[in-house]
Parts: sequence; C-alpha cells; structure tokens
Amino acid sequence: MSISNDPNKLFNFLCKQGFFEDAQKLYNTRKVNIYNEHHDPNRLFNFLCKKGFLEDAQELYKTKKVNISNNEHEIYLYACMNNKIHLAKWFNQISPNIYELDYDDEQIISYRINHYIYLNPYTKYKNVKELCSICYENYEDINTNCDHIFCKDCIYKHLEVSSIVKKCPYCRQELTCFYDVKISKKK
Ligand SMILES: [Zn+2]
Ligand SMILES: [Zn+2]
Repeated sequence: MSISNDPNKLFNFLCKQGFFEDAQKLYNTRKVNIYNEHHDPNRLFNFLCKKGFLEDAQELYKTKKVNISNNEHEIYLYACMNNKIHLAKWFNQISPNIYELDYDDEQIISYRINHYIYLNPYTKYKNVKELCSICYENYEDINTNCDHIFCKDCIYKHLEVSSIVKKCPYCRQELTCFYDVKISKKK
C-alpha cells in the first residue's frame, strides 16, 4: 500500500521530510484530520501555528496532547519575531505568567518569556543537611524535582545565566520545581 493513499500518512511524511509547502497544500484540501492517530501532536501543532491555521491549532490544543512550550518555546518566539499577533495573543491568554506580551493595534511592541520555577509548598525534611553539589561549602537549601541538592546562592546564580529552559546543573534534566529542605526536629 502506498502512503499517498492516506492523506494523513502523506501529510506526516511531508512534514517529517520538511516539505512544508506541499504539506500546506495538502492541508488546504481539508482531507487531513488533526485527530488522526498518525500525527505527532507536537509536530502537527507546530505546523498549524506556523502556517496560520490558528483555529485548528486551538482545536488540537484542547486534546491536551500538545506542549505549547515545546522546543524551548519556539512557537511563541516565532510568533513574536514575525509579528504573528493573533498567535502571540493566544499564547499570552493561555499562560499570561509565562508569555508576556505588549502590543499596540496590530503590532507587537515587546514580549518576554518567564520561565519561573514553581516552589513546591511541600518541604523535604532531613535528619542532616548535605553540602551543596556546586560549591561544597554551604549546606543545601533546595531539593530539585530531579532530587539534586543546592544552596540558594548557587542555584539562583545558575538560573540567572542559563537559557530559557532551566536545567539542573548536575543532571541536565529540566527544572520545574524546588522543594525547601529543612532539618526535622527530633524529639
Ligand atoms: Zn552552593
Ligand atoms: Zn538534577
């Protein structure tokens, strides 16, 4: 069976190969179904956003299968750098704390991506605090989502100089939340 018999498979093939013009032509025929199981949701979402199929992108987003910050926030960056104001406004609506946007009529004036790391309200209690994995001088204040430990000075210094996606300096996993570390009180 040839892949060209199935518009969804053909569409996938074209996207994978980087033939976006042809993919777009095929998409315009309305034979491609965004809910088809053959699609990689994030790749399809990327296509829809960048090619201006905003309503379809919004439909796909509702399936909760796409990660809008995928690939170091590339879609929002694309939208802002190319003055795709409707796309940028939508991202700003979804996550106003992460995607800041300033605009005037139909012009984007400024934008900012805040990658804030969520401080988990849950505290990790330990009997003994260990030394920070960066400086080996101060005792740990923070435990990361990947279970590595740092003092506040070191981890905040690291966050200031790192790129949009914040990675653990120890294991390179993406940092998403911090726990406070405290000594448990013995009775
Ligand atoms: Zn330290
Ligand atoms: Zn780590």
